[in-house]
Amino acid sequence: MTATIIDGKAFAATVREKVATHVARLKDEHGITPGLAVVLVGEDPASQVYVRSKGKQTVEAGMKSVEHKLPADTSEAHLLALIDELNNDSSIHGILVQLPLPKHLNEDLVINAINPAKDVDGFHISNVGLLGTGQKSMVPCTPLGCLMMLRDHHGSLSGLDAVVIGRSNIVGKPMAQLLLGDSCTVTIAHSRTKDLPDVVRRADIVVAAVGRPQMVPGDWIKPGATVIDVGINRIDAGAGKTRLVGDVEFDSASRVAGAITPVPGGVGPMTIACLLANTVTACCRMHGLAEPEGLTA
Ligand code: NDP
Repeated sequence: MTATIIDGKAFAATVREKVATHVARLKDEHGITPGLAVVLVGEDPASQVYVRSKGKQTVEAGMKSVEHKLPADTSEAHLLALIDELNNDSSIHGILVQLPLPKHLNEDLVINAINPAKDVDGFHISNVGLLGTGQKSMVPCTPLGCLMMLRDHHGSLSGLDAVVIGRSNIVGKPMAQLLLGDSCTVTIAHSRTKDLPDVVRRADIVVAAVGRPQMVPGDWIKPGATVIDVGINRIDAGAGKTRLVGDVEFDSASRVAGAITPVPGGVGPMTIACLLANTVTACCRMHGLAEPEGLTA
């Protein structure tokens, strides 16, 4: 069997198109421009690339983009004051504080200072609780993107066996909640899981969010299963070069799976597209307007 490649890059383009259409409607019919504020503390090169890309795509979708770049030694009080200001700014509907923060800043405290209605990353404790109890919430972008691709590929996910490898608050746990919300039978695997290959072999859906290059080989995959590879790992490609690989061994897995996301070009592009989607959703909810269809969980 050769797996269908789930093209996250193309899918993300359709999500961005839907977002742009909805943004245009909000402007025309209601005179509202959704606004996203991104806060970056310090000069982590990877974070700078992400923030630039987020800003560019926000503007391309017709939204207002605001970037706050603060020095690495910014005090907690200063950062909290900025978040308070953004919470009270009616032109801002989404606030994202780029993680990781420098060590002297308490990430939980900072994230929980964001107005949950504007928490487009879905990391605020209120949104975590709402998602866990099956209520309307802001959903973390990466798992939301995975869910959209799975729904698009399968239609209904009801009754399918899903294994999520990884239990982080950012990917693994919310992913498992979303799959449960769509009536999958969900197993969450982690570094202490016994017989991981056997656990994975039972799954109709495998979501790998570990951060270990090519850890999941093809012979762990049930024939015909759908594999969503969240991992982004940079490995040595020889001759002084590097390349990106996922947590799944793509070549062997794609000979067994029914469908698989590549790395790069799978989950990655969906994450920023879902950030834009969350910003529009937050804006609509704040103004009591209908939410765009197909862009929420
Ligand atoms: P974390 O490091 O926070 O979590 C990794 C998880 O993997 C942990 O729960 C850990 O288990 C588990 N794990 C580690 N080793 C093993 C093992 N040998 N067997 C089974 N489970 C194991 O990572 P994140 O969730 O933040 O990210 C995971 C990957 O996804 C990374 O490669 C990251 O770069 C990528 N990522 C990609 C995004 C995208 O946009 N595509 C966005 C976010 C992340 P335990 O809890 O027991 O330690």
